[in-house]
Amino acid sequence: MKGIWRKILRVDLSKRKITKEEPRMEVYRNFIGGGGLGARYLYHEVPAEVDAFSPENRLIMAVGPFQGIAQTGAAKWQVVSRSPAIGANAESAATGWWGVHFKKTGYDALIIQGRSDKPVYLWITDGQAELKDASHLWGLDMYEANDEIIKEIGEKDVQVAAIGQAGERLSRIACIGTEKKSFAGRAGLGAVMGSKYLKAVAVKGTKQVEYADEERLEKINREINMRVYEKADWIRKDGTAVVFKPFAEKGNLPIKNYSLGEWEGAFKLGAPRYTEYLDAKPWPCAFCTMQCHRRVKIPKYGIETVGPEYENLAMLGIDTMVDDLDDVCYANDLANRYGVDAISLGAIIAWAMECYEKGVFTKEDTGGVELKWGSGAALIELTKRIGLREGKLGWLLGEGVKIASQRIGKGSENWAVHIKGLEVPAHDPRAVFHAGLNYATAPAQACSHERGNPQHVWVAGVRLPEFGVDQVKEEDKWSWEGAEKIVVAFQDYCNIVNSLVHCKFMVFAGFTLTDLLNTFNAATGLNWSMDEFRRAGERITNLQKLLNLRYGLTKKDDLNFPKRLLEPKKEGPAANKAPYGIDKAIEKYYEYRGWDKNGVPTRKKRSELGLLKIP
Ligand code: SF4
Repeated sequence: MKGIWRKILRVDLSKRKITKEEPRMEVYRNFIGGGGLGARYLYHEVPAEVDAFSPENRLIMAVGPFQGIAQTGAAKWQVVSRSPAIGANAESAATGWWGVHFKKTGYDALIIQGRSDKPVYLWITDGQAELKDASHLWGLDMYEANDEIIKEIGEKDVQVAAIGQAGERLSRIACIGTEKKSFAGRAGLGAVMGSKYLKAVAVKGTKQVEYADEERLEKINREINMRVYEKADWIRKDGTAVVFKPFAEKGNLPIKNYSLGEWEGAFKLGAPRYTEYLDAKPWPCAFCTMQCHRRVKIPKYGIETVGPEYENLAMLGIDTMVDDLDDVCYANDLANRYGVDAISLGAIIAWAMECYEKGVFTKEDTGGVELKWGSGAALIELTKRIGLREGKLGWLLGEGVKIASQRIGKGSENWAVHIKGLEVPAHDPRAVFHAGLNYATAPAQACSHERGNPQHVWVAGVRLPEFGVDQVKEEDKWSWEGAEKIVVAFQDYCNIVNSLVHCKFMVFAGFTLTDLLNTFNAATGLNWSMDEFRRAGERITNLQKLLNLRYGLTKKDDLNFPKRLLEPKKEGPAANKAPYGIDKAIEKYYEYRGWDKNGVPTRKKRSELGLLKIP
């Protein structure tokens, strides 16, 4: 198999020991790279008794065969660990140039274990790695740490993945960011990094991995890059803020902590106003011809920075009913600097606002903050307190909405919108039931919108004909009939993408699973069929499920769907709809997966997938 180095870099922070390993080729053939490779290492190295903040937990940063290919979308990289938010295995992806450079240092994955006795950062160049003191960087925000490290190393093209104060202070919603614009945001993996006293990983590589058929690959890339460019005009123009209107028309927006079906304020946040008011311009990831990321100017605060993409904008703005674009963008910028996942942050602040409205929090509890719906000042103040973990409330909310609501009680669990501890992102299962089934069952990161994204069938017109998702009717979005097939197809497809590693947005502009497979075969020389490709995705999903079970996530957790999302909205395009019957749909999903009635992969299924003994 080409397109990989067959080299893993392992760093034991407790022993200050850096070693290199050569995994068997079988490991790559089964789990490809990225998220699949990460899950495989967790399986072998992180038993049930090792919790997220234990030094023995692993933090794995991994790339796949696609890094090094000049193809649109091929600049992603994955972080995998046992998550402090959900207590189980989780993965999250970022982009920028970090993954491309890491691959060029000559490794497929970095495995970090142990805990340093003082803050450090890791500096990796071609085949070399060293730990450097980061005492002077501890306490800096993510952007400051990024700049300081680049200055200190003093070379061109250094890429840094760092945490901010939230990760240092073990917030369960802390993220890892790179280039001041891209974030492995979900499931609190920044806090795992903080628990190890690891401030950052800086990389610079110049090596080029060998591909099986370079000529064919170049031809494929040229054609795909141009095709996506031609079809992505709509997203290149406005970024992901373009989806506000179509999502509003589907009732897919998370308005007022998911309690309202429509709200005019949403249109002050999305495109075209977003593009015009913020003078938003594309700020693409490496090689990308779609270019969804934005650089924006925030007039009221006089700063130029990365603009919030749809999820952040929706959760910080729509979920809290703050329609002041300056305030929402500024809160997003602060969240990035402190290293906080803006999706979870928005959900937690919305929950706290509802607590305030219902008298569960008083002004005394909030330290004088008027925590009212729509208050930009409250949004910003809470972002600061949560990001820096300041005061009692800031500390509590930094634990995530599940723990916060359990500690506060008084019925607040009823409006805590999370699944297994991860705050639900900005796609409403009442608009598309399949999103709910995916949230309930996805084993890669609890309720992720990008580790299974069947909502895209109805909200973005995506189809996966190679996996049997082709003819779909509009009304199917509110039916459980055949829902398990669509959800399974999207979860397995996402696991392929997250293991290669590639950007899932490409399908919005005519990129297909066949493109993915053709690129994979030209890169690796494996010449897999579509069935083998799908089988790899299924294998990785099953491995993640085995990890979920090891870490204590069972059928009971799958069935524990947020109460708020089972309450029909009174108004809007998805009025009077709720995913009732999801428990039965979950059972049908298990059956279709070949799992037993408790959602455990059967011996037969594991044997079929080569998972009786994990390579
Ligand atoms: S579509 Fe957006 S996230 Fe994906 S590679 Fe391009 S700029 Fe990055």
